[in-house]
Amino acid sequence: MRYVIIGTGVAGFSAVEAIRSEDRAGEIVMIGDDPHGYYSRPGLAYVLTGELQDKTLFPKTREAYARLKFIYKKARVTGINRQHKSLMLDDKTPLTYDKLLIATGASAIPLTVPGANLQGVLKLDDLEDARGILKHAKRGRTAIVVGGGITALELTEGLLARGMKVHYLLRGNRYWSNVLDEQESRIVEARLQEEGVQLHFHSEVQEIFGKSGKVAGVRLLNGQTMKCDLITYAVGIKPRLDIARTADLACDRGILVNEFLQTNDLDVYAAGDVAQVYDPISGRSVLDSLWSPAREQGYAAGLNMVGQGKPYVKTVPFNVTRLAGLTTTIIGAVGHGRDEDVVGIARGDSETWRQLPDAIVAQGGFDINRVRLLVGQDHLIGAVVMGNQKLSMPLQKIIAQKINISSIRDKLLRKDVKIADVIVDFWSHHLTTA
Ligand SMILES: Cc1cc2nc3c(=O)[nH]c(=O)nc-3n(C[C@H](O)[C@H](O)[C@H](O)COP(=O)(O)OP(=O)(O)OC[C@H]3O[C@@H](n4cnc5c(N)ncnc54)[C@H](O)[C@@H]3O)c2cc1C
Repeated sequence: MRYVIIGTGVAGFSAVEAIRSEDRAGEIVMIGDDPHGYYSRPGLAYVLTGELQDKTLFPKTREAYARLKFIYKKARVTGINRQHKSLMLDDKTPLTYDKLLIATGASAIPLTVPGANLQGVLKLDDLEDARGILKHAKRGRTAIVVGGGITALELTEGLLARGMKVHYLLRGNRYWSNVLDEQESRIVEARLQEEGVQLHFHSEVQEIFGKSGKVAGVRLLNGQTMKCDLITYAVGIKPRLDIARTADLACDRGILVNEFLQTNDLDVYAAGDVAQVYDPISGRSVLDSLWSPAREQGYAAGLNMVGQGKPYVKTVPFNVTRLAGLTTTIIGAVGHGRDEDVVGIARGDSETWRQLPDAIVAQGGFDINRVRLLVGQDHLIGAVVMGNQKLSMPLQKIIAQKINISSIRDKLLRKDVKIADVIVDFWSHHLTTA
């Protein structure tokens, strides 16, 4: 049996681990076009700020790779012939498969304005991109960052840490408005401004102009021009679908797969950022684009490739990130498109943040501590925890395990109540009675 995996990201690598845990004899071939193989993409932000060295991004030792007994091929897959169960590679070597996993991830949506191909207009997808940005980031020079989500913020902080003057362009009237509420956005913006970042709201690039092939500035839609030495952007990502599309695999926004991560060709699987996975609970096919789901999907795909028949069950989204130096955990559904009967409540600084016996304290000493809960009829639907992280672990469990909170619902919704205390008491009681 030959298992072939396209993509050396976390989804592909987890599939190798799963296959090898069940099949010691089968041949596993992993193909990837990233010259650095498997490493942590979330860690790239910390390479930009200088908090991490490149080498700390690589989570596996040589011995760990050797134990998994797989063939690693540095190449680009250019096509899939499903009839012959074979792949076309850019180096022209022939390769057949019995079971195939497509784990090709997603890439940054390019800027399409005139001048976007000038030297010094850069994205952040991979380690080579991070190195390219660092090469261009010169102390005292000016950078423009374009984009509204986490990656754009990471670019802003990375360039700031390298001594650049940073102008951050936002399309709307506040930061990350589809996930954060207004106060959360303003907290992040105020911290950025304190660090010296110049924020520009309602600002969109119309054209990038250059000098001798290098970026020199931008013209905005409102006619304003700004000079700069570097532009970095993160305006969204899109799954890398080309080889799946040309092989006539069913695709929507990602490659469509069932709960066993199988495409419409049952010997071809997809997982990670490239896959649009069927979620039996909501009955919808969704893109996840996060590290943990990619790892879980890759592992489930690997088990199914060896015939385990294990459905992938989507877990509640849980993302710990750092927004302008403030540790922030985002759990479950917190953005737009929630049900009508979900009530949002938030409490900030005046809360008493109590010690929890089994809490993980990721970082202490924040000047801002805030929690926002999305309260459904009987369950918590989502939460945003900024600053002190003592509540994030119990909230994740309460949300993920759909623990019935009707006994505290009315209390939570009262204006005068300290919701941190209510959650702590509820969780302590739950632990002693469960
Ligand atoms: C800067 C940055 C910060 C991030 N921060 C976070 C975070 O804080 N938290 C979080 O949860 N997620 C974060 N993410 C997202 C997370 O990294 C991804 O969800 C995850 O890496 C997806 O894994 P994957 O294996 O599906 O794809 P990828 O990691 O993208 O791997 C796909 C691999 O396939 C290769 N490939 C593609 N096409 C071909 C081909 N035709 N032939 C051969 N090889 C091919 C690519 O080169 C790549 O190496 C971040 C991503 C970036 C870029």
